[in-house]
Amino acid sequence: SDALARAESLIALTPDFPEPGILFRDISPLLADAAALRAVVDALIEPFAGTFDVVAGVEARGFLLAGAVAVAAGVGTVPIRKAGKLPRPAASVSYDLEYGKATIEMAADLPEGTRVLLVDDVLATGGTLRAGRAVLAELGYVLAGTAVLMELEALGGQQVAGPVHAVFRV
Ligand code: 5GP
Repeated sequence: SDALARAESLIALTPDFPEPGILFRDISPLLADAAALRAVVDALIEPFAGTFDVVAGVEARGFLLAGAVAVAAGVGTVPIRKAGKLPRPAASVSYDLEYGKATIEMAADLPEGTRVLLVDDVLATGGTLRAGRAVLAELGYVLAGTAVLMELEALGGQQVAGPVHAVFRV
C-alpha cells in the first residue's frame, strides 16, 4: 500500500553503524510518524489476527513495536530482556553473535500454553529470534508467530529463526 511504501521510505539507512562496513537500518523516523507507525503495526498483526494472547518484544527496539502491536490487537505485552535486567528471570538462553555471545531472559508471569506473538524490529542472521523462540519454549508458551518490520534477506535468517513474517524485505 501507499502507507506502507511511505513508511519504508522513512527508515534511515546509516552506513558504518555500529561497525565499519555495516549498513544499519534506523527505524526511529518511521516510529516517530503516526501514519507510518499505524500502517506497520497493522501489517505486523495481519497474518496473526486472533491467534495470540500476548505480544513479546525483544530488547530494545522490539519493545517499541510490541507495545504498539499489543494495544492495537487488544492484548498485553511482555519483555524479552538482555541478561541481568529482569528482577525475576525464569528462563535464559545464550546465543552467538557475529562477535561474542549474548543472553536473553524472560519471566514466567504468563500461564503455560499462552499463545505468544514474538516481535522484533529487524531479522538479520536470525540468532536473536531463534533464542527468543527457545526462551518461550522453555517456559511452556506456545509460539503463535514471529513478526519483524524488516528482513535482511541476504543473511538467510529464516533458515535459523524459522518462519518469520516480515513487513519489509530487502
Ligand atoms: P540477528 O540476531 O538476526 O543477527 O540480529 C537481529 C538483531 O540485531 C535485532 O534485535 C535487531 O534489532 C538488530 N539489528 C541487526 N541489524 C540491524 C539493522 O540494520 N537495523 C536495526 N534497527 N537493527 C538491526
